[in-house]
Amino acid sequence: MSKLFNNYINGKWKASSSGETFENINPANHNEVLGRFQKSNKKDVNEAVSAAEEALPKWRATPAPKRGEILFKVAELLLQQKESLAQDMTREMGKVIGETRGDVQEAIDLTYYTAGEGRRLLGETVPSELKNKFCMSVRMPVGIVSAITPWNFPIAIPSWKLVPALVCGNTVVIKPATDTPLSVVNFVKVCEKAGLPPGVLNLVTGSGSEVGMPMTEHDKVNLVSFTGSTDTGAVIASSCAKNMKQYSLEMGGKNAIIVMDDADLDLAVEGVIFGAFGTTGQRCTACSRVIAHKKIVKKLTEMLVTRAKTLKLGDGLKPKTDVGPLINESQRTKVDNYVQIGKNEGAKLVTGGNPATGKDCKNGSFYQPTIFADVAHKMRIAQEEIFGPVVAIIPCNSFEQAVKIVNDSKFGLSSAIYTRDVNRAFKAIETLDTGITYINASTIGAEIQLPFGGTKGTGNGHREAGTAALEIFSEWKSVYVDYSGTLQKAQIEHD
Ligand code: NDP
Repeated sequence: MSKLFNNYINGKWKASSSGETFENINPANHNEVLGRFQKSNKKDVNEAVSAAEEALPKWRATPAPKRGEILFKVAELLLQQKESLAQDMTREMGKVIGETRGDVQEAIDLTYYTAGEGRRLLGETVPSELKNKFCMSVRMPVGIVSAITPWNFPIAIPSWKLVPALVCGNTVVIKPATDTPLSVVNFVKVCEKAGLPPGVLNLVTGSGSEVGMPMTEHDKVNLVSFTGSTDTGAVIASSCAKNMKQYSLEMGGKNAIIVMDDADLDLAVEGVIFGAFGTTGQRCTACSRVIAHKKIVKKLTEMLVTRAKTLKLGDGLKPKTDVGPLINESQRTKVDNYVQIGKNEGAKLVTGGNPATGKDCKNGSFYQPTIFADVAHKMRIAQEEIFGPVVAIIPCNSFEQAVKIVNDSKFGLSSAIYTRDVNRAFKAIETLDTGITYINASTIGAEIQLPFGGTKGTGNGHREAGTAALEIFSEWKSVYVDYSGTLQKAQIEHD
């Protein structure tokens, strides 16, 4: 029997009231069960929210530098346990070990950086229009936060939500994706060991409908922070809007790399391959469109096909593996359906296009790295998020047309351009309608000290990471101190 994992509520590891569990399966080897996790329900959510409510007054009254000190210890422990956390993550999620180490490193970076906010949490002091009066703004916690996270960055994304929420003085209930509960259990254990008081952080595992929805609808929850699909984001947004709750959504993209005729093609090829097939294409910033100038499109396509064919698929724990599996069978079916759609739309399949079933892949959800050429930018494979190792090459006639194609998308997360022309690079920064733009680099590789998020359907205007995250997880309070000893009237005493 595989190992049993519990929920974490009010500082205790305990079973769900449902008495039921679900299995966590290795996507590279369906015969390996990593453990059984609690199939929780609304009752467990209510208990977790009550624990968060009880812990809130003391936690918000804890000086922010002290909160930051505990989080600093979280970063130290993550660093100590980096290798074992990464190995567990590869086994439950599939991405290659170099990338899962990067995932944990991102959480370490973010936690060190954000722990320091405990000694800043900067507000403003501004002059008053009246004499003997002092004006400032300070950050206050929002209250109880529900964090709902996806499977593609099983520790990094939870850290983006938990750490800023906690440093700002909020208490949290987190629900990990059903496919990756182990990494979040590991993360919560680190927080427990670092000395986070009971009830400040609570973990409830289970499905989106049985756990995620009650976490969204609970009337004591003040803020829902979500990363995942657009469909689920829309459900969460409308539920929160009805109940006047705050929400922050990060929902993916249809990210593009422009390759101009003056680009260093070798560099561009490496950027496209890393962006399209890294994490098996399952990043919200994955490159799924290449907008290539007509003068180089043929050569670039040949180079990409040659390079894609060298990628080695298999178990991400093996050091020679370049590309791991997709997260599960339904994701593999989704990717395969999109490949059929692309063929039916008339795009030219130049490599891949099938599930991978060779000896290193036979027990997992693998899919061949796939490239379509001659794609028209209105085709569904150039408009919809596939979330797999599929990239569409779209020819263009000019820089201006390339920018138009990139921007003709309902998403606006990440974009990139390969060019040696500095004027064009700056024009791209100015005109590409995305939250992130890379010059001579791929669409992936964000660093934690800058805001992360996108325009249009990618989100609802918020940014995670950096100091931008504080805008999500704190409320402004404006403070006026009148030391005149008289009734002074702002605006009215103007003349
Ligand atoms: P979902 O949006 O369904 O899942 C994300 C998180 O939301 C999970 O924890 C999920 O729980 C939870 N959830 C699901 N339904 C609800 C609900 N009604 N209320 C509250 N929480 C809910 O994404 P999927 O995992 O199903 O992936 C589907 C597609 O989403 C992908 O193909 C990709 O296009 C996109 N995606 C984008 C990501 C990004 O980084 N922007 C990350 C992951 C997916 P559970 O796991 O239990 O279903």
